[in-house]
Amino acid sequence: MCTKSKNVIQVPLLDLKAQYNGIRRETEAAVAAVFEAQSFILGATVENFERAVAAVCGCAHAVGVSSGSDALLVALMAEGIGPGDEVITSPYSFFATAGAITRLGARPVFVDIESSTFNLDASLIRERLSARTRAIIPVHLYGQMAAMETIMSLADAHGLVVIEDAAQAIGARRGGRSAGAIGHYGGLSFFPSKNLGGAGDGGMVLTGDPARADRVHKLRNHGMDPKYYHALIGGNFRLDALQAAVLAVKLPHLEAWTSARIDNADRYARLFTAKGLSPDPVKLPAIPPPDATIRHVVNQYVIRVPQRDALRGFLQERGVSTEIYYPVPLHLQECFRDLGYAAGDFPAAEQAARETLALPVYPELTDPQADAVVEGIRDFFNRP
Ligand SMILES: *Cc1c(COP(=O)(O)O)cnc(C)c1O
Repeated sequence: MCTKSKNVIQVPLLDLKAQYNGIRRETEAAVAAVFEAQSFILGATVENFERAVAAVCGCAHAVGVSSGSDALLVALMAEGIGPGDEVITSPYSFFATAGAITRLGARPVFVDIESSTFNLDASLIRERLSARTRAIIPVHLYGQMAAMETIMSLADAHGLVVIEDAAQAIGARRGGRSAGAIGHYGGLSFFPSKNLGGAGDGGMVLTGDPARADRVHKLRNHGMDPKYYHALIGGNFRLDALQAAVLAVKLPHLEAWTSARIDNADRYARLFTAKGLSPDPVKLPAIPPPDATIRHVVNQYVIRVPQRDALRGFLQERGVSTEIYYPVPLHLQECFRDLGYAAGDFPAAEQAARETLALPVYPELTDPQADAVVEGIRDFFNRP
């Protein structure tokens, strides 16, 4: 292995300080305004941000909630999904997707992913449907939307509810429509590492249906309407006004940040190809050129490589941080052992768990940093 010394250039996986430096004054003013008003729970700050997100996503209703996880949970609650029900979803996602289903006593039924996109393979859904199936939760993983046309037509044909897990995909498009705005519900996350990240936890439920929006509104606040009268049992799933204030400052920057992510992905693809590293040993993510109909928003830039764990360690020593999303597919998680799945059930998801590596792709990543990532990978594989 090549060990020639280099100027050490640090490349973090994400650099939130770089982003904050560009919006410090506006953010501090927005936070100060909430403190001045001492109005921390719901109210105009949250409502204005909900309207802004609804407009950006092209969806009639947006309801701020406490996290992306709770967005999925509340959507399932709004449909009354619980014990005896089955929900089709991906085995290759963040835990929250399947966690929301099981917390309500329903059963996640996994369907393998497409190797090329890491998203639910919609052609495999039909054979997993049963009389108990109530909903499908496709995940728009890494910022790329799942095959929503097929999923929606299957759902229509079988009377199923579709809840898009758009936690990683705000602003993504498919067929000219935005992530979260196609299904009966969409869930967004404002976890700090998402493309639109708050100063803590936050999320949003999108829906085009006023009756569903109304139920979600009530459920996020203990099912209360009017005050101290409860027709439904909900919970405390509210979005903080402080989070809404910070996020409202960030939202107008989202387009520029998304473009910068896409540019960084382009740069990686050019560099890997120019250095002869792709398609072998580095398999690049399939990112179509963005236009009005389709857009991958590159929340993560995820390559597939052999010797993934050794490469990750090698890069870390060179100051390049990477991450594995996700090392254990959901059907093999210890807490889901009683669902009865086994290794080999979902080969594409299991292979992804062995081979994927997410590279730094945040908007403020500099060209020398991206070059350092690719050089590190070239050196690991001993290429000239
Ligand atoms: C982040 C994420 C969630 C959960 O969002 P939180 O805001 O962290 O609760 C759910 N699903 C996916 C795919 C995610 O990436």
